[in-house]
Order: sequence, then C-alpha cells, then structure tokens
Amino acid sequence: MAQTCNVLVVDDSPMVFKAVKRALEPEGFQVMDQAFNGQEGLEKIAVLNPDVIILDVTMPIMDGIQTAEALFQRNPTAKVIMLSAMGDDDLTSKAKRMGVKLFLTKPFKPEELVSSIRSII
Ligand SMILES: [Mg+2]
Repeated sequence: MAQTCNVLVVDDSPMVFKAVKRALEPEGFQVMDQAFNGQEGLEKIAVLNPDVIILDVTMPIMDGIQTAEALFQRNPTAKVIMLSAMGDDDLTSKAKRMGVKLFLTKPFKPEELVSSIRSII
C-alpha cells in the first residue's frame, strides 16, 4: 500500500479491537487506538485525526448514533464504518440518515472489513 491508513476503533469490546487489528494490520493499515464509548471516541478523534473510524452502535455513556451525529456536525466528510449487531435495524437506519454509508454486522469477516475500508479511502 502506498500510504498508511490510520484507523480508530470506537467500540466497548476489547475483542472487537483485537479482531480489527488482526484483520487490518497484515494488510498494512495502522490501527491506532481504541475508545470504549462515543465520548472518549470524539476526544480521541480530535487528537488523533484518524483516516477511518470504526464505530460500534451499542456503547455505554454515548452510543454510536449520538457519536455519529456529533462527529458529522464537526466533520461532514468523516469516513465511518458502523458495526452493528443483529437486531440493531432501527438504529442503523437512523445512522444512515445521519450520513453513515458503510455498515458491517458483527461478527464481521476480516475480508469484509478490509474491502469496506478500501472502498472509502
Ligand atoms: Mg458495543
């Protein structure tokens, strides 16, 4: 890959962070850090300025929908991949209206995540 792509994971599960790292690092992507809720996510996005944000729907303190709303207000061109679980349909349609374009259902396949990222960078 010609240039590094920096990825931030905003998900309350350490397992998801590990799975994202396992999927992306062999492909040359840099998985920078994890935030465990949306509030921490927004803080880390402001500091780290990631190229792509992987955003969970269900998190404590501030969920993925509220996070996406705040994020797109600050940065309308933010590149977000939303990770949803089965049964999150109402929430994902809300996220779509807010501007999230890419969705993966957990558990995602490593190659799905890689191709999703490649499609938005
Ligand atoms: Mg979660």
